[in-house]
Amino acid sequence: MGLSLHESVSRRKVPFAPADPTRVTIYTCGPTVYRNVHIGNLRTYLLTDILVRTLRFLGYGTFTAQNITDMGHMHQEQLELGEDKVIAAARAAGKSAREIAAFFTEAYFRDCRRMAFLPADVYPRASEHVPEMIALVLALEDRGAVYGGDGYIYFDVSKVPGYGAFSGTALGEGTPAERTDPEGHRRKRRPEDFVLWMPAEPGREFQWDSPWGRGWPGWHSECAAMAIKHLGPEFDLHVGGIDLRFPHHENSRALATTATGKRFAAHWIHAAHLLVEGRKMSKSAGNEYTLDDLEAGPPSGGKGTSAAEFRYYCLTLHYATPMNFTWEGQAAAARALSRLRGAYAKAAERGTAGEDAAAALRDKFRSAVSDDLNLPRAVAVAHEAPRSGVGGEAARALAAEWDRILAVGLLPAAESGREPEGVPPEVEAMARERDARRRACDYRAADALRERIRASGYDVVDAAEGSAALRKIRETRER
Ligand SMILES: [Zn+2]
Repeated sequence: MGLSLHESVSRRKVPFAPADPTRVTIYTCGPTVYRNVHIGNLRTYLLTDILVRTLRFLGYGTFTAQNITDMGHMHQEQLELGEDKVIAAARAAGKSAREIAAFFTEAYFRDCRRMAFLPADVYPRASEHVPEMIALVLALEDRGAVYGGDGYIYFDVSKVPGYGAFSGTALGEGTPAERTDPEGHRRKRRPEDFVLWMPAEPGREFQWDSPWGRGWPGWHSECAAMAIKHLGPEFDLHVGGIDLRFPHHENSRALATTATGKRFAAHWIHAAHLLVEGRKMSKSAGNEYTLDDLEAGPPSGGKGTSAAEFRYYCLTLHYATPMNFTWEGQAAAARALSRLRGAYAKAAERGTAGEDAAAALRDKFRSAVSDDLNLPRAVAVAHEAPRSGVGGEAARALAAEWDRILAVGLLPAAESGREPEGVPPEVEAMARERDARRRACDYRAADALRERIRASGYDVVDAAEGSAALRKIRETRER
């Protein structure tokens, strides 16, 4: 196997050694579903996808959880004072917060399919895990790590030895979140303390009873509670964007380790920033691009680009390298992908040749992806094969093998040995399992399976009697 990964805490490349190689456990901070995700978010989720694909390629088994933050959170400068993202979007659209969250969750899954992301094993919803979050806060209370009153509960970071060391943040620098919570800030003993529970403001749709009164949980306790519930108090890998390292990951980790006395994630990986034409993405700059924006093409006019072409563009840069998205760079990536596909189509038509070269390239590809997911090097190897005289069955085999990670369609699906119209066996297996769960009246498990089936690009059409039929979800926008 021999995988090495850069570790965010030690800031070194270390050999990856999971507790159980047949079930590597991975948590990814997922989207807040009040609008479409932008291409910077997608670059982060792509890191999870190439990580999972590489692990499977190297023979590991995986179990992945990605949360859906469906109750919104005050998030730095993007919001009016104290207003919740999901609620603000709902007000603007004249819909309920739940309707907005459901709509953008579906939109998110559609974007994931367009990007060819493997579906997570579970997509825990924040709004469905509030009892777990309350239990976490109670555990912290037992350990004397909280304070508060009037419905506000705060985590006391002074109870965590070495707080700040994880993200390399000096205490006293304050946290950006306090700017949106002046009332809470006034109650805090120090700027780094953070809210675990707060009272619901009038009109808030998402609110729950708790030992501290009716209210709602803080963001950091959400991810910690969901990760612990689905992966246990100790799991292998935690993935997210670099902007989440502080305060979100520092705080999730601090409260999870304090509450459970266990390590939480063994290994943290962060995806670097994505800039657009050298500038930070923002709504006001009009450069917060979504996949639909990419397909529509540059604002100045010109050709749009597909999700597969954007995926390829991202793969040509290492995940820890900041990416500067430019339309010119995207167009060059699209041309390179088209050349690559053309080269494989031609090579596949030739008689089988270059099997020795293919074996050497296969090793090179494997060592590239094993070296901290070095996809740029792996892509270069993919370009090298048709040029090295590899042809026929040998070329088809390499294309099929490497596309298990690249997933950019080196050869048309049928050529790569995949059935374009048939239902994949793992989807059929999930559908059978769902039928069994429904018959056993375990609707929660059945619904979770249906979600995984949908995330795989299929949906179930329930028949009156017993088993259900599967149909492919049509992707009208994918080219
Ligand atoms: Zn998170």
